[in-house]
Amino acid sequence: MDETSSEQLSVTNDNNNNLNINNNNIPIEIVSDEEMALIEAAFALASSSSSRSLLLRSSSPSPPPPSTLLHTNALSIKSITLLAKRRLSTATSTSNGKVNHPDIEDLLPKKTKLHDSFLHRYRNGRGLSVTDLTGAEWCEKQMELSLSRGGRRTTKAMKAGIARHVELEEEVMKRVKVKIATKEDRWALKFLNSIVGVNQLLFTGLTRELPIIAYVENIWMVGVIDEIRTPLTKEHHNPILVDTKTRSRGTLPSEPQRRNGRLQLMSYKYMWDNMIANDFPSGKFFTSFSLNRHQTLSEDLQEIGAGSDLNVSTLDDMVRCFANTCKMLAPAHHQLLLRYEYQADKSLLVEDKFEYDCEWLKDQIRSSLEFWQGQREANYAPEDERWKCRFCQFAADCPGYAESITPKEEDSNIKHDDDVTCISQGEDISSQISR
Ligand code: SF4
Repeated sequence: MDETSSEQLSVTNDNNNNLNINNNNIPIEIVSDEEMALIEAAFALASSSSSRSLLLRSSSPSPPPPSTLLHTNALSIKSITLLAKRRLSTATSTSNGKVNHPDIEDLLPKKTKLHDSFLHRYRNGRGLSVTDLTGAEWCEKQMELSLSRGGRRTTKAMKAGIARHVELEEEVMKRVKVKIATKEDRWALKFLNSIVGVNQLLFTGLTRELPIIAYVENIWMVGVIDEIRTPLTKEHHNPILVDTKTRSRGTLPSEPQRRNGRLQLMSYKYMWDNMIANDFPSGKFFTSFSLNRHQTLSEDLQEIGAGSDLNVSTLDDMVRCFANTCKMLAPAHHQLLLRYEYQADKSLLVEDKFEYDCEWLKDQIRSSLEFWQGQREANYAPEDERWKCRFCQFAADCPGYAESITPKEEDSNIKHDDDVTCISQGEDISSQISR
């Protein structure tokens, strides 16, 4: 990304992680637009996962074709949208045509236990994604309802944001169709995407949409890093992790939005560093996801692997190549970068540079895992962030929403922009690759 061509504000963080904006004419907007993408993506993914469908580039709701693209994004995103629209039908009709909606509490488990936790029920066989973490950080109750009921909406702002991400992706990668047939192929594709992306980073200093997978906090986590850059200076060789968010209005993000973005990028760094510091636990990986390590890969995967000088005929081969690739990397830079772009003209609204805070991150992850692993009930959005309820699809059914309707909030100047529902980079899916 050529930062010099952007209309950049000078922004730094002070020790309290606050934005210091030299030109503060840009208003801060509480919530709206595609910038919410990664938050909402968690809910979209949650909904789609509940249908247990493979997300592919086809927009057809029929079973996925064996042909997919390497390095997924735009097209997979469309598929997520479709699946997200396929809500679980829980309403019943009466004789007078009136629709009865069951009590929300009837739709949810009375008490979750570890073995029937959300993690186990909805993320078994795929791992917990970073967007699952950020979605729960936004509001655990919303995540719970999204998992249980499914269904999210798409907005114009979201579509514009997705299109921008596709544009950024296509600046550095070309999509290639790949036929896959088994779940082993699917994982192999994810690893192949990662290997090719790392090679691109090492040779060109830049890659985008890089899938990562790591075993952290005793669970498997997956993610797709928006962008990774190699610093231009000789003194620093640690890759810089970057995430770009687009906004439909020329406003600055609110603190909860920025906090959510920080959680996302810090999670990537945590996973990245873990992948590099530790040998990939391949035995645990095959067992956790019930994979046959000796499964022969599809011809396409083998051919593309050979084209990248990878001698891979089985999933085991691919995992070994991935593990070797990780050893070539340096830990990610401690400074992380969130970019906020204005959708209308792609100008840079603000850059949020912040330091990695490992302790804060671990606290966040552990707290979230209590929810995901069924050790406690879901929390509602914090009291001072109940404005989120105004943009929540499940507000009508949420016991926490009633508490949020206070005169103070009714009179507040929270802007209601587009209905905030976004879809992001499909962290659990990889069906495209950069070449
Ligand atoms: S209404 Fe508010 S508290 Fe309830 S799920 Fe939605 S955002 Fe969370």
